[in-house]
Amino acid sequence: MEQHFRSYVGGQWVDGSGSHTDENPADLATPVGRYGVLDAAATAQAVDAAAAALPAWSLSNPQQRADILDFVGSEILARKEELGRLLAREEGKTLAESIGEATRAGQIFRFFAGEALRIPGEKLASTRPGVEIEITREPVGTVGIIAPWNFPLAIPAWKIAPALAYGNTVVFKPAEIVPGCAWALAEILSRAGLPDGVFNMVLGSGRTVGQALVSHPKLDALTFTGSVPTGRALLKQAAERALKVQMEMGGKNPLVVLADADLDTAVECAVNGAFFSTGQRCTASSRLIVESAVHDAFVERMQARLAQLKVGDPLDPSVHIGPVASGAQLETDLSYIRAGHEDGGELLAGGARVDCATEGHFLAPTLFAAQPSHRIAREEIFGPVAAVLRADDYEHALALANDTPFGLCAGICTTSLRHASHFRRHAQAGMVMVNLPTAGVDPHVPFGGRKASSYGPREQGRYAVEFYTTVKTAYIAP
Ligand code: NAD
Repeated sequence: MEQHFRSYVGGQWVDGSGSHTDENPADLATPVGRYGVLDAAATAQAVDAAAAALPAWSLSNPQQRADILDFVGSEILARKEELGRLLAREEGKTLAESIGEATRAGQIFRFFAGEALRIPGEKLASTRPGVEIEITREPVGTVGIIAPWNFPLAIPAWKIAPALAYGNTVVFKPAEIVPGCAWALAEILSRAGLPDGVFNMVLGSGRTVGQALVSHPKLDALTFTGSVPTGRALLKQAAERALKVQMEMGGKNPLVVLADADLDTAVECAVNGAFFSTGQRCTASSRLIVESAVHDAFVERMQARLAQLKVGDPLDPSVHIGPVASGAQLETDLSYIRAGHEDGGELLAGGARVDCATEGHFLAPTLFAAQPSHRIAREEIFGPVAAVLRADDYEHALALANDTPFGLCAGICTTSLRHASHFRRHAQAGMVMVNLPTAGVDPHVPFGGRKASSYGPREQGRYAVEFYTTVKTAYIAP
């Protein structure tokens, strides 16, 4: 029987209206399931439920919160193959990548189970005799979570887990095309022992459900991951009502390849960073900046390596690259391939759709030789399309790497300690990789960028405490 995904509001499963298709991007003839969407009034009820649950939950025993998060993380890890399969069918990344993402989501819940018991505080001497000062952290309140579709388990996990660990209540709005993964997470959370209203999940469009969430007067904080235009619009709305916000947005991440690099390492970093997960990662290496002396050799090896990659059904273990996640994203990718040609780029690999046994959104990994001014070298594409840029020397490569409005991640392949150290210091990005792909991060350390890529405190690791808590300074005289 076809699955029907529902929202979760105030401890109840809610159908919502309509019966929308949850598409399988690798096989349009066999959808993942169907789902109903909430309206603005039902979304408002979710925020009301979260606000009503806040006073008790914010004072709950941290061991209770730790146990609940540990339950969620352990169940995700125990069911990682099954959840990975759902993710692969719904979003299209390969089964191995999907199981990896489910594993990461489980680890994140387990990490924050520990953090619930380690909420930091400080005690300082006052400048006034006989007075003591205590600095404590309290939950920020009712937190709205708006997530994108490209990591439909891991990104919600790295927002929901710290929110609950630090005593906040949650209304989670997933992206429209991944209701199944959102439902699977909510289903586990619904059995974890949370009081009703502490966690809510609302399915629906950004325009209706997202807006009803953001404009609700009882919302205290908003954490958003998605595109720059949506993030900027939400930032304006949040500023008008002084809502605490955290925004992770787009990227146009450079991978610099110097003449002294180990070329095998550089090619593997470039192929992984630019094309795995179908290039649909905010940390994807979409600009490959290669020093002139090795440019042609690098391009040749990339062409040979890309020719070995198989595009197709993400559940087939021999496939390296799954489909593009949606028809809309495929259209965007194809429009950038046209722009690559129009701007005078030279197509080095791919450039067209791939026919597979099933009807789906399959696109060949596409590589252009481009100029820094070309649209494919400047704008985020969010697909398996990358540009190679030629650099005269290290200084030129660094300048090209920083010549972007974005600043999420920057990578360099080199065997020179001097260049690696200089790049680490001077790359205008929140994360730097040396001889590693720009995509692929650990679950227990801060994640985030600079410039147009991010706004507000970092996500993940112990740094998450900055967003999910607010500081209180108490002065105590005996
Ligand atoms: P998107 O901006 O279209 O949508 C993101 C979320 O915002 C969705 O849940 C959507 O429904 C919601 N939304 C849309 N309009 C809204 C509105 N008016 N009010 C409230 N909510 C609204 O992004 P997407 O296409 O889902 O995801 C792709 C983007 O996400 C890319 O730009 C990518 O770089 C970015 N991303 C960034 C990171 C990061 O950490 N920096 C991680 C993953 C993805």
